[in-house]
Amino acid sequence: MTIERLEELVRPNIRALAPYSTARDEYAGQPGIFLDANESPYPEGWNRYPDPHQKALKAEVSRIKGLPAENIFLGNGSDEAIDLVFRIFCTPERDNAVIISPSYGMYGICAAINGVEVRPVPLGKGYSLPVEGIRAACDPSTKVVFLCSPNNPSGNAFSRSSLLELVRSTDAIVVVDEAYADFSSEGSLRSEVLSEPNLIVLQTFSKAWGMAALRLGMAFACKRIAALMANVKYPYNISEAVQRQAIECLRKSKVESHIREIISERGRLAGKLPRFSFIREVFRSDANFILVRVDDADSLYDKLLADGIIVRNRNRVEGCRGCLRITVGLPEENERLLKSLSEYEKGTLHRP
Ligand SMILES: *Cc1c(COP(=O)(O)O)cnc(C)c1O
Repeated sequence: MTIERLEELVRPNIRALAPYSTARDEYAGQPGIFLDANESPYPEGWNRYPDPHQKALKAEVSRIKGLPAENIFLGNGSDEAIDLVFRIFCTPERDNAVIISPSYGMYGICAAINGVEVRPVPLGKGYSLPVEGIRAACDPSTKVVFLCSPNNPSGNAFSRSSLLELVRSTDAIVVVDEAYADFSSEGSLRSEVLSEPNLIVLQTFSKAWGMAALRLGMAFACKRIAALMANVKYPYNISEAVQRQAIECLRKSKVESHIREIISERGRLAGKLPRFSFIREVFRSDANFILVRVDDADSLYDKLLADGIIVRNRNRVEGCRGCLRITVGLPEENERLLKSLSEYEKGTLHRP
């Protein structure tokens, strides 16, 4: 996509926006006596506004992810980035967004909140990427296509090449949500944002990185989109507490060994789950959860709950009838799950 076309996709009111200028934008020099932001002068730890541009944290993220800070947006979870995409590109009651189905629920919810029509395109056989269906669903009012890879709740990753082909052949913004990319061998698309102006890649520190409570998500995009997101966000969207804590967590993170263990446990579960007679299908997972189709999802859900094991019942989700989504836990937690499943199997076999 050309830069000119990208500019056309931006809502006119957003294109014309003069962003709020904070006190720290207007003076960013040496520390001194700060009498410019109506803060409390009493230094009890949190009296100063945080850096609205999160420079120190972004430098750390930039180092980890191998992309320049100017191509990075940090949000209150990647959910903030999803909402910003609608607000930047979609005019309410006029534009539409194309999403795959089943997929992450927030795309549809954010669309509804923003008064934007969503056009769900069912995934293909085996939850494959419906490339032709997506193309057919797009019209001149389609401003954004949301893809999720590895996809939640199906768990499978789409090939980088098929995603890239869609990005290159679509006249809309393409968001690729990679919340689970750390668990996939398919690899991230994020470096492609340097050459594809309509690509936005979302990642999060909530899953593999174990920081869901902090609320910190990332969007990677061309400089123009990253700047638009910075202009539209609340000036202080990432608190000082989160900025400090995240830098500390990132520096001492054991993420690589955790990912290795989760992937190995995922393999162990994927090997054992198909042996249960009531499990009809175990879907391939490139994420930290496994979707299974079972004979009676509600009764198995209740059995697990009675044993203190809480999974996600997807039985009533379009495209996921009869399915439970099971997050990969610690080895001993997964062992408890398997024990519970064995008990359930004995119970169902003995049923008259
Ligand atoms: C969990 C999840 C997110 C949420 O990320 P936050 O950064 O915690 O907001 C985003 N996308 C998908 C597909 C998810 O499953």
